[in-house]
Amino acid sequence: MNLALLERIKSSASLPSLPAIAIRTLELARKEDVKIADLAAVITNDPALSSKILKTANSPLYGLAEPVSTVSRALVVMGLQAVKTLAVSFSLVPTLKNASGGPGESFDYVQLWKRSIYSAVAAKLLAKRLGVRFEEEAFLAALLADIGIFAMQRVLRREFEVVYAQSGGNHETCLALCREKFDLDHTIVGAALAQQWQLPAVLARPIALHHEPDAETDPLVKPLVEVVFTGCLIGEVFAAASPAPYIMRARKELAQRFRLEPMEVEKLLAEIGAKTGESARLFEFDIGEDRPYQEILEEAQQTLILLSLQTQHHADVVRKENEALQHQATTDSLTALANRGRFNDFFAEQFARAARFGRPVSLLFMDVDHFKKFNDSHGHQAGDEVLRRVGKLLKLAARSVDLAARYGGEEFALVLTDTDATTAAQLAEDIRCALEGEKVPFEGQTLKITASIGVAGFDKNAPFQSPAQITAAADKALYAAKAAGRNCVRLFRPTVTTTAATTSAQPASR
Ligand code: GH3
Ligand code: MG
Ligand code: MG
Repeated sequence: MNLALLERIKSSASLPSLPAIAIRTLELARKEDVKIADLAAVITNDPALSSKILKTANSPLYGLAEPVSTVSRALVVMGLQAVKTLAVSFSLVPTLKNASGGPGESFDYVQLWKRSIYSAVAAKLLAKRLGVRFEEEAFLAALLADIGIFAMQRVLRREFEVVYAQSGGNHETCLALCREKFDLDHTIVGAALAQQWQLPAVLARPIALHHEPDAETDPLVKPLVEVVFTGCLIGEVFAAASPAPYIMRARKELAQRFRLEPMEVEKLLAEIGAKTGESARLFEFDIGEDRPYQEILEEAQQTLILLSLQTQHHADVVRKENEALQHQATTDSLTALANRGRFNDFFAEQFARAARFGRPVSLLFMDVDHFKKFNDSHGHQAGDEVLRRVGKLLKLAARSVDLAARYGGEEFALVLTDTDATTAAQLAEDIRCALEGEKVPFEGQTLKITASIGVAGFDKNAPFQSPAQITAAADKALYAAKAAGRNCVRLFRPTVTTTAATTSAQPASR
């Protein structure tokens, strides 16, 4: 972060100093135990300020049951927090606004403030809809979220304006460009100014994170940050030249972050559109033509359809890429069987399922015989071809609910769900026999191999405690098959039924 530039902006004479009334209200706002009478006295002292607060109180944004005519009454009806925040907004914003624009200025402040007021009303109404306590803070934080853009423009002038123009007024692009060019952006500047002006401490976080709400880790502040972030997106719906992408994003955030139903989302957006004009007038913001949400939506409809098709297409591409990656991560490249990782996961799942439902599950371990010698005499390529053939054979033997895997090297595994050990041993014998009869053509030769198979099964007679115990048992049976001269099947039979520890591998019934 460019601290020198930040200091330069903070201490710049180009930024307005706060008016006395703003400083006084802020002082009072900071006091937890401020008395209604004290605050009312300060506000009433400033006729312009009190008139705006009363107008706001009586505006549709608050929807009070009865109109209020005094600041003290407003404080009672709206609550201290609401009036405190409004007083800060009304004493601060005109000062900032009056400092912007002016003769010879090319920077489009109208656009900036327009977005701010829509964002503020959006954040407030969203907070209200969610039934959270920080409606007023959400309003003020969203209103001031882009204060950093204002400050950077005041101080850097041309240098900043070039970057802003380059971004086409898109705040996210502007943010990225500023980070690149100045090593500083409006979120940091805004939060620093909020601190410098001693605005209520709770405002700095949402201002700092109104483009990246998920960076907030404090669970107490996060809801406010999320509301302000979403409020700013909604502000773009009403202020951006091309609102369609923001309509899409606002809809998505409102649905995903706040679990609002599509109907509620549209209702909220329409309400924001309808209620902002009044606030804008109170703040003397020029928001140009006050267009209802429905009108914006109708105009954006074509683009929205296109965008949603694009999004759908993008989602399909991402899903396919993920599936391909998933496949790659779980598949053995030589044989296209499941790899050992996938085998471990699958077998663990099947064991848990079998144990839960009292169903059998069996495991075959198969190892090609004298494969080292085979490689030595026929070459590694021939060996690979044979392994591919073994893979195909196992794949054929497996049902859709089973899993054939390459366990490693020339060792294979077959998980047979809902299959008892005796049936598994019979299938193992069929596989062994089929392999023995296989003639593998390779570069003009016919290759032949055999394999040994160890079988272990889980059922009520063989109460294994874990998949690892069954694996060890199948491995033991395989070892027995090798010891018995290879090219045969051995079935692991528990000799003691209460524990799987003292057991032996016996010839499989053929
Ligand atoms: P045994 O009957 O006792 O299993 O003897 P073996 O020679 O098959 O067993 P050993 O474990 O001594 O040798 C396994 C051989 O398998 C050695 C290794 O080069 C070969 N091998 C392992 N993976 C591959 C592979 O992907 N392709 C080829 N061609 N050979 C492989
Ligand atoms: Mg071998
Ligand atoms: Mg081996």
